[in-house]
Parts: sequence; C-alpha cells; structure tokens
Amino acid sequence: MSKPIHLLRRGQCRFAITPHTARSHLFCAEPVEKEGAVYCACHAALCYDRRPAEKRRADAEHMANVRMLKRHLSTGMMATPARLRPPVGAFSAPEERA
Ligand SMILES: [Zn+2]
Repeated sequence: MSKPIHLLRRGQCRFAITPHTARSHLFCAEPVEKEGAVYCACHAALCYDRRPAEKRRADAEHMANVRMLKRHLSTGMMATPARLRPPVGAFSAPEERA
C-alpha cells in the first residue's frame, strides 16, 4: 500500500520505505496509530523509544558494562609486556609440537 508523498493523505504513515538513493521515494501509507500521529503503530514502535525511564537507565548501564568488559578483554593481552607473554607455541597441543 506504499505511496509517493504527493498521494499521501492525512492519517497515513509518513515512514519512508525506500532508500534515499531511490529514484522515486515511497512512504508506508498505513493508517497512523492515533489521531495526529505521523507513523503507523509498527513504525512508531521502530522510531520511538517507549521503554520506561528505569528500564532505559538499566539497559544503558548494562551496555556500558559490556563495553568496558570488551575493552578490558581486547586490551588485556596487548597490555602485557612482551617479556611476560608466553612464547609462541607454548600452549600448543602435544601432537602439534615438532
Ligand atoms: Zn508505517
């Protein structure tokens, strides 16, 4: 049911569904979720963050912890001075040793 912008009517979803590089631009055009809204329920859910403030804070804190852990894990080995790193092949399986 998508439409070009000049065929959109009041109460039809304005979510662009074609890439910006497309020659003709199409919009969703499904009925909006409520009077005065610009998006249908599906696209409103996609565009607006409706998590409660407490949940948003908890999620942000969790993601900050994940990023910190990833940074720690990715720099851990690099931060070890070469003289303290195990020699190459030190942990190879017995059958792999020459
Ligand atoms: Zn829509």
